[in-house]
Amino acid sequence: MRAIDLRSDTVTRPTDAMRAAMMAAPLGDDVLGDEPTVQALEAKVAELLGTEAALFTPSGTMANQLAIRCHCQHGDEIYAHRDSHIVHYETAAPAAISGCAINPLDGPGGLFDAPTLRGAIRHADIHAPAPRLVVMENTHNRGGGTVWPLAQLADVAAAARERSLAVHIDGARLWNACVAAGYAPREVAAHADTVSVCFSKGLGAPVGSALAGPAPLIARARRFRKMLGGGMRQSGLLAAAAIHALDHHVARLADDHANASLLARLLHGAEGIDVDPPPQPIATNMVFFTLRSGMPEARPFCEALTRHGVHLIAMGTRRVRAVTHLDVTRDDIERAAATIRDAVALMRREIAEASR
Ligand SMILES: *Cc1c(COP(=O)(O)O)cnc(C)c1O
Repeated sequence: MRAIDLRSDTVTRPTDAMRAAMMAAPLGDDVLGDEPTVQALEAKVAELLGTEAALFTPSGTMANQLAIRCHCQHGDEIYAHRDSHIVHYETAAPAAISGCAINPLDGPGGLFDAPTLRGAIRHADIHAPAPRLVVMENTHNRGGGTVWPLAQLADVAAAARERSLAVHIDGARLWNACVAAGYAPREVAAHADTVSVCFSKGLGAPVGSALAGPAPLIARARRFRKMLGGGMRQSGLLAAAAIHALDHHVARLADDHANASLLARLLHGAEGIDVDPPPQPIATNMVFFTLRSGMPEARPFCEALTRHGVHLIAMGTRRVRAVTHLDVTRDDIERAAATIRDAVALMRREIAEASR
């Protein structure tokens, strides 16, 4: 039986149609400034987000870090939720590359509100870091794939502006948020100075992200991308995959969201695990569950499930994540749920027998 890989929506393989689009793409040298397919992608992303310009990057991490590098100076402070990707999964790059501290904010599901931000922003004082940037992650990964309601995002952005802070949106899964909430990418981007988006998550492209924003900032980001070794040559091969993904794989994210809801429903009530309630206000393509005491911890649990043909990822000592995507069908989800339930029941029996 084919393994079902629910570790992340990054695991998708390019479809045949995507591979054909990659092979057909006209190519140039992007560092020398004549890569037609990369330029077409950058124009398309800027258009979708309603910004002056956009820059193709090798990863979402680089897109976020270029934004931070452009907005901030050494000694500045960034405000972001404590569960953010930039806090947990970007190798302390805000400190390493841009010399910034992150002031971690609290709030349910990876979201925070304007009063929380207002209460955290420091006042001018010789002792204090200089407040400079707010980062909102939409959807919020560790928060459960949570979608920012547009009004809340607008309120936070307005609170940032009151104090002259810049606003960056980590939109690695902005496409999921838009499909789930029914708002347009440019409606979100209108509240931000810069937005990063990924093509290699739910959209199913093999590699690539983008940073969108005002033309002068993007020109500086292009220079910093080169500095960090992210200047690419015939990257139109990859940009073609991203263009194909934007044209064909956005609306279908609704299927991934339906599959995640189905998985949550099918796992609900299994003895030994507690499925997180769907994130408020809207669920997307992620399901989180917690292993009850008595059950193995998340890492050995996931290793055991891998032997049963279902790949999950540990997101904490007892927390496990499953992500739906282009390469899993509704049937796969039903089979994965049955496999997880059977494995959990088996582990509970083994643990009960061992303790007798
Ligand atoms: C995946 C992800 C990124 C970027 O990750 P890369 O692996 O560097 O492309 C950024 N932010 C969030 C919220 C993500 O989930």
